[in-house]
Amino acid sequence: MSSLHIFDPELYYLGSLCCRGHDWNGTGKTLRNKRRGRCPKCDLVAEKERIDRLGDKYLGKLCRFGHDHEGTGKSLRTRSGSGCIECRRIRDLKPEYKERRKLHARKEREEKPELARQRVKEYRLRHRDRINQERREWNKLNRHVALAYEQRYRSKPLGLDNNCRKRARKRARKYNAEIVPYTYEQWQERKRYFDNLCAFCGSEESLARDHFVPLFHGGPDSIDNLILVCIKCNSSKHIRIDIEAWYKSKEFYDPARWQKILSVLGSDIIARSLI
Ligand SMILES: [Zn+2]
Ligand SMILES: [Zn+2]
Ligand SMILES: [Zn+2]
Repeated sequence: MSSLHIFDPELYYLGSLCCRGHDWNGTGKTLRNKRRGRCPKCDLVAEKERIDRLGDKYLGKLCRFGHDHEGTGKSLRTRSGSGCIECRRIRDLKPEYKERRKLHARKEREEKPELARQRVKEYRLRHRDRINQERREWNKLNRHVALAYEQRYRSKPLGLDNNCRKRARKRARKYNAEIVPYTYEQWQERKRYFDNLCAFCGSEESLARDHFVPLFHGGPDSIDNLILVCIKCNSSKHIRIDIEAWYKSKEFYDPARWQKILSVLGSDIIARSLI
């Protein structure tokens, strides 16, 4: 769970390591909630455990609107939030409530986009199983629409790119290589850096991302390790680790291009290869 890459200093601080050892981005410290000093990840785990053990719904005190659950004299409540379910249902239906919530969300997105994104991420993480389940069910019921969506997404640059990255991550997991997330924009930037040409031979055909130190040899799936390479160079280089020797043996060897490659790679990548 590495969803908390950023944090709002108004809400959180970095405190001592929690009992479950939730280290925040390798700092040896745990992100803690300012109000109560608690680790938000531990809170999520504890809440999930409690709900798994006891179920999310329970019969609690009668709410102030007297929503009696099937004549038990009690109100049905959720453990996550402990509110009365009927009250919540009624509140959610009110147009002015919806409007207010929308407005609040928009304001937050504009004023604190990072925080808003983090909230969405946390929400998705917390409800991942339910969201996936709902998506699967929806896809089953709307197969043709879902397929069309999928095809349209895949035909767009972002979808295509995500697909390639997914495959790269899968390979990285297979070889136990490190995975460091990077953005679509970072990869586009890398392609522009190489003028949309093969980093080795300068070809403009059949280009693809290439891990400079192969995943097979423990090179990470990170932007620091990525260059743009044509399919011919890729298959000729294959999983060789002495890339310099391979490159120098080729008739298209170009010292300027080689320097360009070296200067964009991460320093640890160069250290890991045999240069
Ligand atoms: Zn924790
Ligand atoms: Zn109620
Ligand atoms: Zn090439």
